[in-house]
Amino acid sequence: MAEMHFDALISLPPPAKYGGRHTVTLIPGDGIGPELLNHVRELFRFCCVPVNFEIVKVASATTTEDDIKYAITAIKRNGVALKGGHGHIVTETNHNLPPSYKSTNHVLRTSLDLYANVMHCQSLPGVPTHHKDIDIIIIRENTEGEYSSLEHENVPGVVECLNIITRVNSLRIAEYAFNLAREEGRRKVTAVHKANIMKLGDGLFLQCCKEVAAGYPDITFENMIVDNTSMQLVSKPQQFDVMVMPNLYGNIVSNVCAGLVEGPGLVPGVNYGKDYSVFETATRNTGKSIANKNIANPTATLLASCLMLDHLKLHAYASMIRNAVLKTLSETQLHTADLGGQGTTSEVVQSIMQEIQRGGPRISKRI
Ligand code: ATP
Repeated sequence: MAEMHFDALISLPPPAKYGGRHTVTLIPGDGIGPELLNHVRELFRFCCVPVNFEIVKVASATTTEDDIKYAITAIKRNGVALKGGHGHIVTETNHNLPPSYKSTNHVLRTSLDLYANVMHCQSLPGVPTHHKDIDIIIIRENTEGEYSSLEHENVPGVVECLNIITRVNSLRIAEYAFNLAREEGRRKVTAVHKANIMKLGDGLFLQCCKEVAAGYPDITFENMIVDNTSMQLVSKPQQFDVMVMPNLYGNIVSNVCAGLVEGPGLVPGVNYGKDYSVFETATRNTGKSIANKNIANPTATLLASCLMLDHLKLHAYASMIRNAVLKTLSETQLHTADLGGQGTTSEVVQSIMQEIQRGGPRISKRI
């Protein structure tokens, strides 16, 4: 399995400070975020990882604009953040929010210009799934498209919802996708779109991908309409290598792919911009229905913390934790309920610590 350096092409990690230690903004978020990030802190302490966390609490139910501004300033100061998911305001009250309302997640991504969301979705050892040998990198444009919060009711009963696609942002995400594909020795990039219907918007996205593809003759370029993509993903996912797409399709495809490899508790994700990086789980779930029950699968959050350590060039720590996480997953029967097991979150984390203590993780594989 090739090693992944998703970050190499965009942002440089901030240098270590104060005696070689890094400072990272930690945003616990909602639902299972706080408990899982507490496990990350526990594991980092256990492994003597040279990272200090600056904890910034931004929870959806109580967040004010000032809280979000503070979080943004903290990420700008530290350059790197690890976060839990943020829920959206509950549906009943959504009707009372102005259409211009933006979720906390969205404000963070746009304010920090975290334009590339990257998720590496692969079959994991020890996790039985319907489809085997999945190994897909999904690159989602993270700042525009359907998430522009530009909606209005022209006349009662007629709503326009704007999908903003720009040439400059489409070119930069396509460039990132092809560059990453080349760096990782991948052979194919698939652009996902609905240009047959949205001829101007998705047409522009597709056109930009084609233009960038022309500069990468070593990489096969194909494009696929999003509805066919969904069908192909659930019937023959192995055909996909690197995929690039606008914001909303990226969200949906990421969730389908997480489901293919057995769920949101397993897959980490990253949001990169030129200056900052924010690490979280790929599907950004809050898991509020399983919060505070000690049953959430900690794998995705722990692997997100490993990607963060790689970004900080703390590769030895990243490998130590990642290997122990994967070994616990593949070689013990200790699985959380989402994988059909009866293990608790803390039992899994304990087992990972024991594995680290034994000093014998042998699997060498990056997620
Ligand atoms: P919300 O809709 O506010 O995000 P939720 O709990 O209703 O909260 P999601 O967060 O969307 O739902 O999560 C989708 C599903 O994935 C839920 O069944 C949730 O329990 C499950 N899930 C999410 N994260 C994990 C995890 N780390 N471990 C196990 N199951 C998870």
